[in-house]
Amino acid sequence: MTRVAIVTGGTRGIGAAISEALLEAGYKVAATYHGNEKAAQEFTKKTGIAAYKFDVGDYDTCAAGVAKITADIGAVDVLVNNAGITRDAFLHKMTPQQWREVMHCDLDSVFNMSRLVIEGMRERCFGRIINISSINGQEGQVGQTNYSAAKAGILGFTRALAKECATKGVTVNAIAPGYIDTEMVRAVSPEVLQKIIDKIPLKRLGKPEEVAAMVVFLASNQAAFATGATFTVNGAQYISS
Ligand code: NDP
Repeated sequence: MTRVAIVTGGTRGIGAAISEALLEAGYKVAATYHGNEKAAQEFTKKTGIAAYKFDVGDYDTCAAGVAKITADIGAVDVLVNNAGITRDAFLHKMTPQQWREVMHCDLDSVFNMSRLVIEGMRERCFGRIINISSINGQEGQVGQTNYSAAKAGILGFTRALAKECATKGVTVNAIAPGYIDTEMVRAVSPEVLQKIIDKIPLKRLGKPEEVAAMVVFLASNQAAFATGATFTVNGAQYISS
């Protein structure tokens, strides 16, 4: 039977590449987004993948969104928690709002969406939860105490949930991308971008498709023994043992 996948933030950037790669691999895919209607409409027109608008940081809207997706295309087998934002500032200048917005979108979302699909996955004895963290959650980044904390929090969540579900056919993994060529990264100045690229041993940004390929592997039956892990896709910029 065709498996069903949800990709949060699946209409742009890395998420769009993940949505398309899962479609290509034979999944029924639902992509979520938050506010960029134009991008969502263009994405759906180009790919045929339906886009669902809701705030992944809000539990009740996620519940309604997951219920709608389930009614439209079936129970969820694969959840990719990809939606994320940055609100950068040094801590001595960071506002409580900048902290909360990042926690809401980047970390609360992982609880919300996972909580809403985990019971069904356990009952059906199959599931794949793939959480998109970041190199900056592994090594920390100046101006990103909020983002680094949220992305490191995802890694702890991933390990704990993997253990909880280990006997239920549900795997839970994290991917920690390095700097990937998306609008989020292109938003920095050309000088800063060049400094970033200089620090990457491969001397280039990653491609969204290179993260998507890892997702497709982790979603597959072949990845059944890989769980609780963090997979880096970062051009050797940060190597952890
Ligand atoms: P983009 O900014 O290109 O896309 C973000 C996506 O998330 C959009 O679809 C956006 O919707 C959606 N989104 C944002 N806020 C919400 C929300 N509250 N509810 C639902 N959807 C939301 O991001 P990237 O593709 O660059 O990044 C994707 C993920 O990868 C993020 O988690 C990011 O932290 C992580 N990452 C990215 C790296 C990079 O180099 N780009 C490096 C490491 C990690 P809309 O279009 O409506 O705004």
